[in-house]
Amino acid sequence: MRSVALLIGIVAGMAQAPASTPKPTIALAVIGDTPRDVIADLTPILRETFGAEIVMAPPVALPASSWNASRRQYLSTKLLDALESAKRPEWERLLGIADVDLYVPDLNFVFGEADSRRGVGVFSLARLRAGADEALFKRRAATEAIHELGHTYGLSHCDKPTCVMWFSNTLAESDHKGTKFCPEHARELAENRGQ
Ligand SMILES: [Zn+2]
Ligand SMILES: [Zn+2]
Repeated sequence: MRSVALLIGIVAGMAQAPASTPKPTIALAVIGDTPRDVIADLTPILRETFGAEIVMAPPVALPASSWNASRRQYLSTKLLDALESAKRPEWERLLGIADVDLYVPDLNFVFGEADSRRGVGVFSLARLRAGADEALFKRRAATEAIHELGHTYGLSHCDKPTCVMWFSNTLAESDHKGTKFCPEHARELAENRGQ
């Protein structure tokens, strides 16, 4: 199946695209009380990384059902459900940005979560401020945004610690990996997006 998809991708890539072909659109939505200026901060790097139009989606309410009172955290999978409901068909992807501590059942916390089938992802700013000045905070947000969007396009974790698809357990690992895809993941991303 992979080789057929690749072949189609190559054939599609050879066709001359009409000048009016619109760029794919990635929508960004703040969730709950997330400061909205994060969207303006992320727009240029996401536009460049994904070659997409970046638009601001209407804010999404933090689902009450996501709160776990005993853990004092929010279940990120419930946020993905809310994003799926908010997603419009004309958006290739919808990325939600939360500012609360997220978890999935088997982990102490997660920086984010994504679902390639539904085309939605989420990450949180809540753990990104520790020890960071404004510039580092913005870079961390960009790193998490690109990582989760990578998952929405079907990319898995990478074994190269400098690739943005490296799985970070800590902020130190996030800061080390940065915002760029390794060559293999850049290629896979383009293939999966039919480019
Ligand atoms: Zn990941
Ligand atoms: Zn990689």
